[in-house]
Amino acid sequence: MDIAVIGTGYVGLVTGAVFAELGNHVICVDKMPERIEMLMGLKMPFFEPGLREMVERNMEDGRLQFSTDTGHAVKSSEIIFIAVGTPPKETGETDLSQVESAAAEIGKNYNDYKIIVNKSTVPVGTGDLVREIIQQHKPPELDIHVVSNPEFLSEGSAVADALNPDRIVIGAPNQQVAMKLIELYSILEKPMIITSVRSAEMIKYASNAFLATKVSFINSVANLCETVGADVDEVRRGMGLDERIGPKFLRAGVGYGGSCFPKDTESLLNVSRSYGAGMQILEGTIAVNKMQPVLFVNKLESVFGSLDGKLIGVLGLSFKPNTDDIREASALYIIDLLHKRGARVQVYDPMAMDNVRRSGVNVTFCEDEYDAAAGTDAVLVLTEWNRFRQLNFSRLKRVMAGAHLFDGRNIYDPAVVRRYGLSYHGVGRQSVLLENS
Ligand code: NAD
Repeated sequence: MDIAVIGTGYVGLVTGAVFAELGNHVICVDKMPERIEMLMGLKMPFFEPGLREMVERNMEDGRLQFSTDTGHAVKSSEIIFIAVGTPPKETGETDLSQVESAAAEIGKNYNDYKIIVNKSTVPVGTGDLVREIIQQHKPPELDIHVVSNPEFLSEGSAVADALNPDRIVIGAPNQQVAMKLIELYSILEKPMIITSVRSAEMIKYASNAFLATKVSFINSVANLCETVGADVDEVRRGMGLDERIGPKFLRAGVGYGGSCFPKDTESLLNVSRSYGAGMQILEGTIAVNKMQPVLFVNKLESVFGSLDGKLIGVLGLSFKPNTDDIREASALYIIDLLHKRGARVQVYDPMAMDNVRRSGVNVTFCEDEYDAAAGTDAVLVLTEWNRFRQLNFSRLKRVMAGAHLFDGRNIYDPAVVRRYGLSYHGVGRQSVLLENS
């Protein structure tokens, strides 16, 4: 099939590359010429395992092209995916301006019957809005159908997720239109669910809000565990083996971040309020998540009395491992709180340092984890990169001035850390202190 993908961010680029890999002819367009230039020179705009190789292979085979010419891409394609950003406004409402401008461009270049597929995460009813905008611009005699096909990939495993999704949701206005999408995806041999457009839009929001709520739930349990003398890591293992609950998204820590959970929970809450319904459970989810970084820094402060003048090493800046994405990363909130309380911060992350540098945060960037720990009073692990799981604690202890390890993702065994002469502080677990600390 001939496919156009509008927007070459995490979702658009991965989607385009995967459709090309599956044998389609794909044109990926973006309004940022520098992004398209980079891609044409085989430089990825962000890090995602396996993506570069897939892009290279499909460009060489002539199935994948990059362009800034939306008109050409629209005219030469039968299916057009919209994969542009849907960031939040200050109010929590979704900013749909990128979707609206993509729809207008599709309408202006609409030269034949096409199926428009919205992959961006959007409030319920946006499918109708997209159809109306295209209708305003397109020749009246040509038919148009708009489908909602939300994306569930996770950054850090985006290529693998897109090739191996749990399910494919197709919100289509009729069976015939749904069949076209089924034809496109059938090669993946994954469960497909056909729904109305509005239900598909809601499935995406409800899924993300549910996962975010699971994280905030276990974080609330963790905070209680600290008070009552339980260990949340034992609790989550005991809970997660119950098949009705499951082990995923059940790890306590310094909170969820990224470009999806924070904005999608806010947006769903906003939609519910605008219909006069409200979702109190989401208010709780969001409030708990906002407090996790604060509680973590409070814990640090209670150990030291005051953070004024303290030097803190931070390991991990991206919102999760295997990505360089720092949008809404808990690490950045924690660094901000540390600064406000008078601490100085030196950092290391395997992938996200350039993005943090560009954001203008005032920290010292270090060569590796031991460089970031050198001379510090405490080390904080805020992203569970695999290389941090293999920390050499004796080396860490040797280079530090103090002896406190704060495990913001509960990835270490407290007793092992303690054996190497460091006090251990996790989330929802009892601290294991050195005798004289
Ligand atoms: P992104 O910000 O990384 O990328 C969006 C891209 O669209 C940018 O490169 C931008 O320049 C381009 N763009 C905007 N308007 C355009 C236009 N009119 N014409 C051409 N290009 C245009 O966004 P993303 O992270 O890929 O997310 C895209 C959508 O998918 C969002 O709605 C998001 O919520 C959703 N989503 C994201 C993820 C994720 O993990 N990032 C997962 C599932 C769903």
